[in-house]
Amino acid sequence: MPIHISEYLQITDGESRYIQCRKCNTTICTADKNYKRFVIMKEDSIAAANPDNYDSRQYVDHDVVFRRYYCPSCATQLETEVNLKGEEPVWDIRISI
Ligand SMILES: [Zn+2]
Repeated sequence: MPIHISEYLQITDGESRYIQCRKCNTTICTADKNYKRFVIMKEDSIAAANPDNYDSRQYVDHDVVFRRYYCPSCATQLETEVNLKGEEPVWDIRISI
């Protein structure tokens, strides 16, 4: 039976474990990888997350971006994050198996 790790992600059981979309069961990657590197990412300015955040340079020296991650098969939005432009995706779900 798959293990739910977020609203739209699950890990398969069995000897080899994979991260899957819970909505369409598409396999995204092996469970030891950051799934965000294997899905569709859309990056916008931080204002897309909240119109009041129109200029991050008022607070930090770098551009801050708002990222949305989508299932490559059914386009369900899997996760969002706020990060510095050019940085690697945040590894927010790291399962120790
Ligand atoms: Zn899906």
